[in-house]
Amino acid sequence: MVRATCSMCDGLITSVGKAMRVGSVVARIQVPPTPKPCTKHTEYCLYFTDGICGKCISRCPVGAITESRKDKAVCYRHLFPVTKDYVTSSYGFDGYGCGPCQSLVPCESQIPNKKDCL
Ligand code: SF4
Ligand code: SF4
Repeated sequence: MVRATCSMCDGLITSVGKAMRVGSVVARIQVPPTPKPCTKHTEYCLYFTDGICGKCISRCPVGAITESRKDKAVCYRHLFPVTKDYVTSSYGFDGYGCGPCQSLVPCESQIPNKKDCL
């Protein structure tokens, strides 16, 4: 079972952290609902629960994340064309990607702990 809640940078914080990829499968089977592990949709983000951390803010190279919100338009303009052009010219395929806000932060590979921000 994967547990996940939203975060300050809009990534999903899961039991294996935020730097991950998820997918979905469509199947004609009965699956019992997964018990809801949280009481709040942002519960695993230290900023929303305890008002601390915010390390993803300074990780963003274009200032798309602030204490009040993530500006998806600013993020998008960095992905296209900046990272897209970089991936194409450096690796030779039609891809894009960013994600400093998901790496080297307390929620990168786990549900973060307060001690990670001390
Ligand atoms: S780095 Fe900190 S503030 Fe940002 S999403 Fe992770 S836990 Fe929340
Ligand atoms: S994906 Fe990149 S540009 Fe978008 S918020 Fe994260 S660090 Fe910033």
